Amino acid sequence: MNPRAIISKPPLPQAVTEFNKSGRSLLREVSQRSGTEVNLCFHCRTCATGCPFLKGMDYHPNAVLRLLQYGLRQAVLECKTIWVCVGCHTCSNQCPMSIDMAAVMNTLRLMALEKGINPGKRNILTFHQEVMRSLKYYGRAHKLGIMWRYKIHHQGWFQDVDVGLKMLAKHKLELWPSRVKAMEELRFLFPKD
Ligand code: SF4
Ligand code: SF4
Repeated sequence: MNPRAIISKPPLPQAVTEFNKSGRSLLREVSQRSGTEVNLCFHCRTCATGCPFLKGMDYHPNAVLRLLQYGLRQAVLECKTIWVCVGCHTCSNQCPMSIDMAAVMNTLRLMALEKGINPGKRNILTFHQEVMRSLKYYGRAHKLGIMWRYKIHHQGWFQDVDVGLKMLAKHKLELWPSRVKAMEELRFLFPKD
């Protein structure tokens, strides 16, 4: 008997090989586009315990990375979590592997849009677009303006009124937008109209 046959590993079933290939290519794509090495995550869950938006998510942030590691492209691009993340960087600041979760989520949102996959949460794309519009014109998020324009699109006038009133009472909502001084330095970030 050929001694190499004794020490060589048995071949992997075809399905596993395909699964490994698609997992690796997805990981490579997301790592390259986001500039963060997704495979370094060892699932300590520090990001999940610190995320202020966990309640609205269907997968915890580290579980999104796990879906990527398993190569489950469709599941990850269809999930709510990638749209609920607001890129606050609370998780990245605490991650022992310095994984930039906000950049990963951003990349996944772009990939979902490129593939024509509907966001996993209804109307959330309008919300993101209104935040970007506010940043483009004022250099910061004018919350009241964002909420107002979002409501114009989707008509849910009385939804979240209690939250809005609480924010007003705590002076968390500015009535009028204020512009940052260095607007010229920000303009290159946005496409021209
Ligand atoms: S904190 Fe970092 S290493 Fe830990 S689970 Fe989250 S992404 Fe992974
Ligand atoms: S960047 Fe996203 S995932 Fe991380 S803590 Fe903020 S909302 Fe949560």
